[in-house]
Amino acid sequence: MERMQQIVGRARAAFNSGRSRPLEFRVQQLKALERMVQEKEKEILAALKADLNKSGPNAYSHELLGVLRELVLAMEKLPSWAAPHPVKKDLLTLRDEAYIHYEPLGVVLVIGAWNYPFLLVMQPLIGAIAAGNAVVVKPSEISENTARLVAELLPQYLDKDLYTVVTGGVPEATELLAQRFDHILYTGNSAVGKIVMAAAAKHLTPVTLELGGKSPCYIDKDCDLAVACRRITWGKYMNCGQTCIAPDYILCDPSIQGKVVENIKATLKEFYGEDVKSSPDYGRIVNQRHFKRVKSLLEGQKIAHGGETDEASCFIAPTILTDVSPESKVMEEEIFGPVLPIVTVRSVEEAIEFINLREKPLALYVFSNNKKLIRRVIAETSSGGMTANDVIMHSVVPGHSGMGAYLGQYSFETFSHRRACLIKDLRWEAVNKVRYPPGSMEMMHLAKLFLLKQCNKGRVGQFISALLAALKAVVAKVLCPKLEG
Ligand code: NAD
Repeated sequence: MERMQQIVGRARAAFNSGRSRPLEFRVQQLKALERMVQEKEKEILAALKADLNKSGPNAYSHELLGVLRELVLAMEKLPSWAAPHPVKKDLLTLRDEAYIHYEPLGVVLVIGAWNYPFLLVMQPLIGAIAAGNAVVVKPSEISENTARLVAELLPQYLDKDLYTVVTGGVPEATELLAQRFDHILYTGNSAVGKIVMAAAAKHLTPVTLELGGKSPCYIDKDCDLAVACRRITWGKYMNCGQTCIAPDYILCDPSIQGKVVENIKATLKEFYGEDVKSSPDYGRIVNQRHFKRVKSLLEGQKIAHGGETDEASCFIAPTILTDVSPESKVMEEEIFGPVLPIVTVRSVEEAIEFINLREKPLALYVFSNNKKLIRRVIAETSSGGMTANDVIMHSVVPGHSGMGAYLGQYSFETFSHRRACLIKDLRWEAVNKVRYPPGSMEMMHLAKLFLLKQCNKGRVGQFISALLAALKAVVAKVLCPKLEG
């Protein structure tokens, strides 16, 4: 516990020194991170290979590219994100300077999950640095190679006191959570999400929770099945199904179920060849515990394709289950593995009802040639995010989340405090009479007239506002000439 106190204390002292605030410093740290990703590319790819058997091109496109993209965006946009945002004035602030200033929160804790172990700690770190905070990063102990590498690399490139990495598992995370932070961003399962939120509540610390859930995928009969199934296969089986927004299960009419299976099988062959196990593009389950969990979901199910497993190498073949009962175990929890159940429904109404009867999904997918049907599904359901006629791709639109949002400008805003700033003039004291005692109903009526009647529509509005302001000044002068400063 003392160690965590020291680590957080050191980060806080570094934050209080003020050196993380100037924009030049933030950009310089982000540049250093970019250099780190470029110079240590090989080491990062090797760690991802060791943790999840991610192939070079997959690891690069799914993790490193996302980090580099976030860096480039933050460095380019930081001056405009951080610039004071003027706010609309009203009669009370017409003569003042009124703006929102984005200021850093202080010390931020980032707790990462193992499925995209580099991306999930680096992207929030980038946002927190851009916003001028000190950061403590706790990568997942399950992806231990990446965790170790992140702990080794960050101090080589970044300010050591402002940005610290804590490795370890539940005991370390628990000790960290006992400390006071100014914001916590957690990615992982909902059960631990509740623990994180309860710990944060003790210090009234705001949280961003990036959680999981089941993401349904409805395939309409009026659809190009070959294209739909290729896109679904890509999103479902990438990273061996261990993607938070992977399509979790398919809903479709019984009449197309067989064709869906055939198309996915054909795509699997196209992507991974005859022998999936030897394909460099096919990942592995992260550890034995998750292997056993995913394997147990196959029990008692009709396996239309796949189903082969190898415990020693944590291999589970891309698997399709058909005619799955909504009550079965595989439909109860997030699968987070390469198992794709198909549940048949007889209409889009039934699909919508099925989705709405369950927990709000993290992502929702619908495939159809019919745009009206797509809009109907969007209008009558809710989910963290959604893509029509593709999967995963809405993740490039910032915002998906359990609670809160991050990426791009949302990250910057998540890790910033929007401070309302008003700079007034010491003159014009007469105008303030309306808010000083002794109170008078006449004054109140006058204030009501000026404040509620103002019109803010374009130039006419501005003109009327200016007119009202002039009128207000005259009235103020007449009402209390002695106070005029
Ligand atoms: P995990 O086991 O790596 O746990 C996540 C983090 O929580 C780790 O750093 C771990 O050390 C910490 N942790 C575990 N138990 C804890 C405890 N008792 N107290 C404090 N900290 C604790 O990852 P996981 O939970 O298996 O992650 C997978 C889940 O994350 C899936 O549900 C997935 O959908 C979700 N996920 C969501 C997103 C998103 O952006 N919404 C992204 C990736 C993963």
